[in-house]
Amino acid sequence: MRISVIGCGYLGAVHAASMAKLGHEVVALDVDPDKIGRLAAGDAPFFEPGLPETLAEALASGRIEFTTDPSRVAGARVHFLAVGTPQGPSGAADLTYVDAAVTGLLPHLAPGDLVVGKSTVPVGTAARLAERVRAVQPEATLVWNPEFLREGFAVQDTITPDRFVYGVPAGEAGQRAVAVLDEVYARALAAGIPRLVVDLPTSELVKISANAFLATKISFINAMAEIAEVAGADVTALADAIGHDDRIGRKFLNAGLGFGGGCLPKDIRAFQARADELGVGQSLAFLGEVDAINLRRRAHVVTLAEELLGGSVAGRRIAVLGLAFKPNSDDVRDSPALDIAARLVELGATVAAHDPAAIGTARRLRPELEYADRAEDALAGADAVLVLTEWAAYRSLDPQAVAGLAAGRIVLDGRNCLDRDAWTAAGFTYRGMGR
Ligand code: NAD
Repeated sequence: MRISVIGCGYLGAVHAASMAKLGHEVVALDVDPDKIGRLAAGDAPFFEPGLPETLAEALASGRIEFTTDPSRVAGARVHFLAVGTPQGPSGAADLTYVDAAVTGLLPHLAPGDLVVGKSTVPVGTAARLAERVRAVQPEATLVWNPEFLREGFAVQDTITPDRFVYGVPAGEAGQRAVAVLDEVYARALAAGIPRLVVDLPTSELVKISANAFLATKISFINAMAEIAEVAGADVTALADAIGHDDRIGRKFLNAGLGFGGGCLPKDIRAFQARADELGVGQSLAFLGEVDAINLRRRAHVVTLAEELLGGSVAGRRIAVLGLAFKPNSDDVRDSPALDIAARLVELGATVAAHDPAAIGTARRLRPELEYADRAEDALAGADAVLVLTEWAAYRSLDPQAVAGLAAGRIVLDGRNCLDRDAWTAAGFTYRGMGR
């Protein structure tokens, strides 16, 4: 099928390359010429495992075209909207990019075309955009097909997601849309991946409520970490014990620095803002607490670093290992690790930061930090070591080797990902989160 993908960021670039890999003819559009130039040359513009290979395969097949020319989407039967919906100044989602993408698409829509929203939007957006589409091309249909991919697993999650959710209008147009989307995702559906057909507002809410739930789960265990720390308990053992109850489950119960990235923080704020607009702000008031618990983690790590260094970090050299908001990604949007590194610098510390993938993205946001291309260089002469993103390379660090590089014997495990006993045996004062 000939499809277009509008917006080639973390979601759209992966979606476009994956759709071509599945055999579709893809036109991928973005307003950023640098990004398009790199994608067209087979150079993934961000770090995502499997994307370089998928992109190379798509380009070699001749089934994908990258462009900045909006008119190239004409002729596609399905148009995926994958542009950003960042946090606006009030906390509500900024829909400028979604509206601009639709404005650019409208003149090229033909009868029978399907516009498929993938971006995460406030409930009610799809109905409003559907009106805009109908006003210009009454025989085109807008549906919402929210995306649940996890960065770090984006290719796999795009090709074989947990489930598909189709938000469609009632009646014949909705049935036709379901048939077209089933054709797009035929291979995954044949493999038995569940597909739920719902109305437009439900599809928008499915996505945002899933993220609100995940954020709540993380903040729940971080609140337990706060209690465990003052009560002399171990939150890791607590999570293992409660996680055995399959109504609770062990996933997303790792206490640490909390969540960040381009989705959870802005999504819970946008959700609250939308609930306020709808007159049901009370229903989501708890998300304000989820956010507050999450942000307290960052302040807590800074306080712990000060305590461990005898009351102040000023003039001390600190190795920060990890800048991305999670491992296997170079995404530093609202990253707790980068935030903490910057706060330490503000307090007078010299921070030498390392990340296996995110130095480039971090440097753009925080040029004032000192970046080390090798973890060893960050560790050399450090008075304290802070592990802030749980990359496999840091989990498997040899504490004896680190002891040979660092000046001090202090390790702060912001993700509870290190072997406490091994670090203690190597002479380090170990501090975890809620342990
Ligand atoms: P991103 O910022 O990485 O990408 C957005 C892209 O859209 C950019 O490349 C930008 O240049 C482009 N763009 C902006 N306006 C455009 C226009 N008018 N026409 C064409 N391109 C345009 O953002 P992202 O992380 O890919 O997220 C996109 C959406 O997907 C958001 O709503 C996000 O919440 C949602 N989402 C993201 C993820 C994720 O893990 N990143 C997962 C699920 C859902």
